Amino acid sequence: MNKLVWFTTNLRVHDNRCLHEALRKGFTQAVYCFDPRHYETEPFGFKKTERYRTQFLIETVRDLADQLTFQNIPFHVAIGKPEELIPAIITEQKIDAIYHQREWTTEEVQVQKALRKVIPSEAKMFSYYDQFLFHPNDIPFKEAQEIPEVFTVFRKACEKNAQIRPVLTHKAQEGSFKPPRVDLPDLNRLGLTEFERDPRSAFPFLGGASQAMQRLDSYFWETKQLRYYKKTRNGLVGTSYSSKLSPWLANGSISARQIYWEVRRFEREVVKNQDTYWLIFELIWRDYFKYVSMKHGSKIFQIGGIRERDYTWDRDLERRQQWIDGTTPEPFVNANMKELAATGWMSNRGRQNVSSYWAKEWGQDWRIGAAYFESMLLDYDVHSNWGNWMYNSGVGNDPRDRKFNIQSQAQRYDPSGTFQRL
Ligand code: FAD
Repeated sequence: MNKLVWFTTNLRVHDNRCLHEALRKGFTQAVYCFDPRHYETEPFGFKKTERYRTQFLIETVRDLADQLTFQNIPFHVAIGKPEELIPAIITEQKIDAIYHQREWTTEEVQVQKALRKVIPSEAKMFSYYDQFLFHPNDIPFKEAQEIPEVFTVFRKACEKNAQIRPVLTHKAQEGSFKPPRVDLPDLNRLGLTEFERDPRSAFPFLGGASQAMQRLDSYFWETKQLRYYKKTRNGLVGTSYSSKLSPWLANGSISARQIYWEVRRFEREVVKNQDTYWLIFELIWRDYFKYVSMKHGSKIFQIGGIRERDYTWDRDLERRQQWIDGTTPEPFVNANMKELAATGWMSNRGRQNVSSYWAKEWGQDWRIGAAYFESMLLDYDVHSNWGNWMYNSGVGNDPRDRKFNIQSQAQRYDPSGTFQRL
């Protein structure tokens, strides 16, 4: 009997636990479904996924198809719901086990349950947490409920008590097969419009694991920018101020472990300093928001957030449009919002300012801002997006509950106005 790897947000062949396990058990095939629900309009009126991230995803799946062919693994790609597409593959290809990444957020869990219901009861489903730096079984907290509410407490405990697992490697599958033509959709077929890439983008890269590795190579080894990471990470212009790995991490075309072990190699071969450590520090933030959402469940999407705050929020349509179009009275907010609309990218410094302005300065429903980011961002990640939005809106894990002074931020991070002019 054959095995099936159902790819979701783990779109890589290297260091992929699901693929690794399936290949150990038998002849393996793979499937990716462009789920139409991901392209629908959500309650605040935004498309769940806009064109930038969709284009990036199409490029990613194309790259995955090439790599799977290279490893002799047949790959099925289609537009449709997994629970409607996968049962036919199971029957036609005589599959007795499905391997997939384990999730805990509501929508993802619903899909996994819906699939379980429609596949034959003899077919087994195996799921693995593969999106973390620190695996849930390795952290010093047994239950999600024990995850600390303060990041520093979490980080120190993990740094002291948890090991990062090595990356997994495997050989290509034996035998040869004639690769079926992988029919990838284009933007129009997913209900979106084509676009021209803006050459000024701070993220001019393509999707796919090969591109992720190229970026890692260039940021770490060719330009050695990693050695200055902490000093440059608050930048706003160009490709080199931060690693720019987030879009690949978000759809899993690179794993956090792969980055971690490459940092360690860099530290051995080039330099070990505060800057190299800080990239790992930021990857721990990424893990932290995953654990926060595991602990608090759907509270991360609710207006009171994980703190269950009873604040009053406004929903002013005119302000919403001004914020989105970049026509507020704050030029620094506007520049960042225009960047997002034109490219799908915004720096971390920009994100902190525009979210604070929306939720704290203007007192607008923070979930509208988060939903707009979800739609537009190239690197949208459910846990990082909603976790950071809560944090900056006073309903999350910020013990200091800060509000940004936009003008002094602009003075500090864009003193000569280069970014705003761009
Ligand atoms: P680097 O500075 O090079 O950092 C390396 C990696 O560390 C990043 O790729 C990312 O995986 C992780 N990281 C860095 N900062 C954070 C952070 N604050 N929280 C969680 N992980 C972090 N990041 C996303 O990946 N997806 C999102 O949807 C997202 N939404 C955000 C929304 C708001 C309101 C804010 C303030 C931040 C958000 N972030 C999100 C976090 C952060 O802005 C981006 O991860 C970062 O800007 C990506 O650029 P980079 O890869 O060059 O990061």
